[in-house]
Amino acid sequence: MEVRLPRARCVRCGHRPVKRAVVVGSGISGLAAAWKLTRQGWQVTVLERDQWIGGRVRRVAYEGMDIDVGAAFVTDFYFHARKIMREIGLENELVRFSLDSAVEHDGKLKSLWPLPEMVAEGLLPVTALVRLAAGTMTLAPKWLSLNPGDLDAGIAYDDETAQSWSERVYGAEVTERVIKPLLRGVVHWDAETTSRAVLFAMLKAFLAHPRAYVPRTGMAALPLAMADGLTVQTGARVTGIVRSGTGWAVHCDRDGGPETFEADAVVCSAPATQVADLVPELSHVDKEFFAGVRYSSTAVAVVKVDGKPDTLRKSVWFTMQDQSSIVGMTPYLFRDDDRDYSIVRISLSDPAYRGNAGMSDGELGQFVIDSARRMPQLSTLLRSGSVVGLARWPEALPVFDVGHLKKVRSWRSRNSGSLVFAGDYLRGPYLEGAVRSGLEAAARLG
Ligand SMILES: Cc1cc2nc3c(=O)[nH]c(=O)nc-3n(C[C@H](O)[C@H](O)[C@H](O)COP(=O)(O)OP(=O)(O)OC[C@H]3O[C@@H](n4cnc5c(N)ncnc54)[C@H](O)[C@@H]3O)c2cc1C
Repeated sequence: MEVRLPRARCVRCGHRPVKRAVVVGSGISGLAAAWKLTRQGWQVTVLERDQWIGGRVRRVAYEGMDIDVGAAFVTDFYFHARKIMREIGLENELVRFSLDSAVEHDGKLKSLWPLPEMVAEGLLPVTALVRLAAGTMTLAPKWLSLNPGDLDAGIAYDDETAQSWSERVYGAEVTERVIKPLLRGVVHWDAETTSRAVLFAMLKAFLAHPRAYVPRTGMAALPLAMADGLTVQTGARVTGIVRSGTGWAVHCDRDGGPETFEADAVVCSAPATQVADLVPELSHVDKEFFAGVRYSSTAVAVVKVDGKPDTLRKSVWFTMQDQSSIVGMTPYLFRDDDRDYSIVRISLSDPAYRGNAGMSDGELGQFVIDSARRMPQLSTLLRSGSVVGLARWPEALPVFDVGHLKKVRSWRSRNSGSLVFAGDYLRGPYLEGAVRSGLEAAARLG
């Protein structure tokens, strides 16, 4: 399928702009770059490998519903993303997305969020609750400087792993029952290697901005609205970006065969792992930087379950001890409530995905549901479960291990010239990071 949208015009003067840019990838970072470049007067063509736009914002359609299987919510600290949403008319479409969550502990599901429910349901003994409160208070002197929307703000703390800091400050119980499942479930990361700087930003995000939202019709409305008025060619896999005269030649494979796009400038928003193959003339320093970016992997199975048990109304995060194959289960909350079934999204752990990536979609879906049924609290609930959709994410979220923030910040000064890069690995593993990196890439081209 090819999505052909009207050719870009300069919004200020209405004339065809003279400078041509190609954006590689129609994820949120690429679309943010294209959106801004168009407003800066460039003629922009977005080339997308897949048959759909949005990259890691993607939906599975089921019985009239659009179920997000990638990014599912935005929050109040998404300053740049929300500004674009206001401009494209999506802000008024936002409805609340529940962050309520639980953790399996001692064979029972116990609330992790909201905090009063965590206290009431006894996820932590009183001594551990006191350590959680006291440990969080130690962040007070750092609090003002932390900014969940700008991870650079906490770069001074990019010096220790989340696990070692948490064990030292919160103790083992909080680390095992709160910190590890949170990192594993929300960002598919391992506390043993993740930087404490990112954990601090996450804690501030939960405590200072505890509300999340999603467009009424699902998160996939965001890339569609951002692409409105842009030229986006889907099914166009870029195979090489090489110098041509004063500009660039972007080679791609399309259904009809190979095609080349000439451009004055290029924004490459493909995942960092692909950059070295796409741009043969990268310097040694750049090659080393891109090779050092790692991603966690997952597959998300959309599972239909008979009835509407209360347990399935909260997200559930699993610890490694409880469940090595599954990291979390998130409900899809129907806007209309007249259905007699529930939908949940179950995510595989990174090792389980990598170990089973060769399976067919049917086999992988069955593996996900069989693994989830092994949880004592879920086996009965999921007995009627059937998989109605599956998304594979070999590059789900860039990993922010200790040292990554510092490496990115020092590399960013090299992100200049007429070939620039965008992607969440440059600014943060969420939509805000992707939008910000795209806007910055466009600003660099002027
Ligand atoms: C399961 C999951 C849940 C998530 N939940 C949330 C959430 O709730 N909230 C949140 O804020 N964030 C969430 N995220 C993170 C968020 O989705 C990403 O941070 C963001 O979408 C990344 O955008 P991007 O443009 O950097 O990359 P991508 O979306 O990966 O875009 C890159 C694009 O480049 C294309 N491409 C790659 N190679 C080529 C090529 N050779 N030629 C042409 N095109 C190419 C790809 O097909 C893709 O469309 C989630 C991610 C996942 C995987």
